[in-house]
Amino acid sequence: MNEPTFHHALKILEEVCTGCVHCTVVCPTEALRVRNGKAILNENRCIDCGECMNVCPVNAIIVEQNDIAEIFPYKARVALVSSIFIGQFPRHYQTRKIYSGMLEQGFTHVHESEHGAGILIEQINQYIAQNSQNKPIISSFCPAIVRLIQVRFPSLVENIMLLKAPLDLAALAFKKELIEKGYKEEEIGIFYVTPCAAKIAAIKSPVGEEKSVINGVVNMNELYNKVYSTLKKEQYSSCIIPEKEQLKSEEMGWSLTGGEAAYIQGRCLSIDGLNNVIEFLEGIENGKITNFDFIEVRACDQSCAGGILTVANRFLTRERLDERIAKYHHDKSEGKIFDNKTIENHGRYIRDHISINSIEPRSMLKLDDNMEAALKKMSRIKKILSYLPGIDCAACGSPTCRTLAEDVVQGTAHTSDCIFIQTSLNVPPNEEIRAETIWGKDRFRKLL
Ligand code: SF4
Ligand code: SF4
Repeated sequence: MNEPTFHHALKILEEVCTGCVHCTVVCPTEALRVRNGKAILNENRCIDCGECMNVCPVNAIIVEQNDIAEIFPYKARVALVSSIFIGQFPRHYQTRKIYSGMLEQGFTHVHESEHGAGILIEQINQYIAQNSQNKPIISSFCPAIVRLIQVRFPSLVENIMLLKAPLDLAALAFKKELIEKGYKEEEIGIFYVTPCAAKIAAIKSPVGEEKSVINGVVNMNELYNKVYSTLKKEQYSSCIIPEKEQLKSEEMGWSLTGGEAAYIQGRCLSIDGLNNVIEFLEGIENGKITNFDFIEVRACDQSCAGGILTVANRFLTRERLDERIAKYHHDKSEGKIFDNKTIENHGRYIRDHISINSIEPRSMLKLDDNMEAALKKMSRIKKILSYLPGIDCAACGSPTCRTLAEDVVQGTAHTSDCIFIQTSLNVPPNEEIRAETIWGKDRFRKLL
């Protein structure tokens, strides 16, 4: 059971956590437990989706934060930012002004992360044609979904598309461009402005790759607040007009729901929101949903517009980006569009580096490496389950009766952690110590 652990961007603040179990109940991979009155995380199961952070009533779950000062040791400081960031500002702020506001924070270059999508469209269509045995091909864009499939749907791992996301392609192209302009590799720092914890985890421990080409991350909400304050005060130290690398319309919408599927040939579907995705993947896994060529799946409602580190209302962000796409078509008809030369100049290089290695399943149901021991544990789980009430109240600190039974056979819980078992057995007073191991001593002291 010595699986490697992965980088996680979500952290639990033990001193703030009250052990209320809200997080354990919503976690789609049952990665959380409450022990000694605090939530604890099984790092191998966590997919960094942030559902736990969204429901925590006391803000005890946070996303790790890199200090923006980490950009300064680099000579070329590139902010790689999703078009979602631009879409969050009030509509009277032009893209060029927002870029300038970012340069004021110390970046020397600003590029949008969807720049590689144009090449990706052609490559995904080829990939689907060449991998017809693995249909439906599942998009690898959202790292929370890739990890969800690894952990909860291991039989669908082969369906995940082994192509990089535009973010990585754009980073590769801009790094190459800067090297050609005379920068040494070690002088270039590429920082992704992330809308979610899953992208942080994917950059710090990438799936299907040894190391990411991206050097660091900046949380989107933090940068938004800094840039917005600069824009409001019109505090520009100089009039900087950033290099214009305009996204094409298909690239602008790539991080929104439907952004990928709209350009892929064959029968495609876009699904957003973790519960919707889980329901759909269950349908594919059990054979009830068939005959799709490509599935675009994103963990957040409205895709990255609904990421946990975004600031604006996701529907308004979508509206602004749709307007931006429409304006692109208008400008194009008047011949005002700037060409996206960096990506076109490095098209061959991007295509040569577009693949990722195979992705391995990480089944959360694995009880033991030894098959005989695993079967014994499975039969013990069934037996324990037959004693438990099956109401999944989570008062034992495990999210469901089944997970309590699993925890018991793995030696991390006790059957009498179930409050109904305690009551029905008329557990003597010294056994109340079991309750303390779930809820912590302090909670009971408060009641005296
Ligand atoms: S981030 Fe998602 S997978 Fe990880 S503990 Fe929270 S809810 Fe569970
Ligand atoms: S949909 Fe976008 S913001 Fe949400 S987890 Fe996936 S990549 Fe991150």
